[in-house]
Amino acid sequence: MSARIVHPADFAEPGAPLAELPGHVSSGRLERVLRRGEFAVTAELSPPDSADPQDVYNRAAAFDGWVDSINATDGSGANCHMSSVAICALLTRVGYSPILQISCRDHNRIAIQGNVLGAAAMGVCNVLCLTGDGVQSGDHPEAKPVFDLDSISLLAVIKRMRDEQRFLSGRRITSPPRLFLGAAENPFAPPCDFRPLRLAKKVEAGAQFIQTQYCFDVPMLRDFMAKVREMGLDRQCFILAGVGPLPSARTARWMRANVPGVHIPDSVIARLEGAADQRAEGKRLCIDIIREVREIPGIAGVHVMAYRQEEYVAEIVHDSGILEGRAPWRRDLNGPSAPPG
Ligand SMILES: Cc1cc2nc3c(=O)[nH]c(=O)nc-3n(C[C@H](O)[C@H](O)[C@H](O)COP(=O)(O)OP(=O)(O)OC[C@H]3O[C@@H](n4cnc5c(N)ncnc54)[C@H](O)[C@@H]3O)c2cc1C
Repeated sequence: MSARIVHPADFAEPGAPLAELPGHVSSGRLERVLRRGEFAVTAELSPPDSADPQDVYNRAAAFDGWVDSINATDGSGANCHMSSVAICALLTRVGYSPILQISCRDHNRIAIQGNVLGAAAMGVCNVLCLTGDGVQSGDHPEAKPVFDLDSISLLAVIKRMRDEQRFLSGRRITSPPRLFLGAAENPFAPPCDFRPLRLAKKVEAGAQFIQTQYCFDVPMLRDFMAKVREMGLDRQCFILAGVGPLPSARTARWMRANVPGVHIPDSVIARLEGAADQRAEGKRLCIDIIREVREIPGIAGVHVMAYRQEEYVAEIVHDSGILEGRAPWRRDLNGPSAPPG
């Protein structure tokens, strides 16, 4: 890795204001929060099946004051929705801090590099690099998959654009995209011994933050993190544990059977089944998991994926106490828009 990650302990002034600090590659809020050693919170925005920008703003408003950055998914599950780059454009217009997600399934290297420049020009500071779900898992199984790049080569391409000011072709970029680079990881997918090694490859390729698949099995995450610490990876990237409320035992069973890479232990399903109000129990379970993962050394934050339950994110973040009185940015509907970041 050429760009050294500077950790909070490296800062002489832990109480410094949220200004850009040495070692930053972006001017974004997520990077600032993580480098200051604060427990970061990100949340996934379900993209609308609509051309109305207000649908995006309504969904983002549910996170106001509770999250440090909003993930705009890119054809998640290989289903068609409003694009990630368009959602990021809308969000940066009014000052939100989005994470552009790029799946390699639908675009080749020419389209992706163009979108990266365009997104950065609109104020996007964070990118999550994904290989992406295969077309067979979505609503257009007859679509032609691209996969010109994968998550690791994508990280390397954007890192080169940022640090060397070059496209993959070698052609010079006059003003480079200043992006905080992320990737996904699944500590719960077999073969589990392989997951920290794949993480190491992503870090070597340029990943500075990681968002994991849903964690419903804290002991498995602990084992993964023990290996990650042994390899020193927690000192080279910020790891945010994926969490989310399960609305019912039925949904949990469905997710376990149909969403690739999601692992839900029987004990979790039994806990939901035994509850009088399964939705409320799903929220409590999510809060319990957040509190447990927060204690795992090397976990730098949580990524809340509350699919079709975005209205619960504020309550979950509040009740889990992870912000410890800190108030992330919120949209001021009466005042001028904050600069994007
Ligand atoms: C936080 C998060 C956000 C996501 N957002 C999106 C999105 O916006 N759009 C989208 O299309 N997908 C999304 N996904 C799904 C993700 O792309 C797939 O789960 C993918 O298989 C693994 O992540 P990756 O893309 O980083 O692939 P990589 O880690 O690069 O893996 C590449 C290949 O390894 C194999 N592989 C990896 N994990 C598994 C597994 N569990 N089982 C079998 N084979 C595996 C697959 O063949 C895959 O193509 C997201 C996942 C996470 C955790």
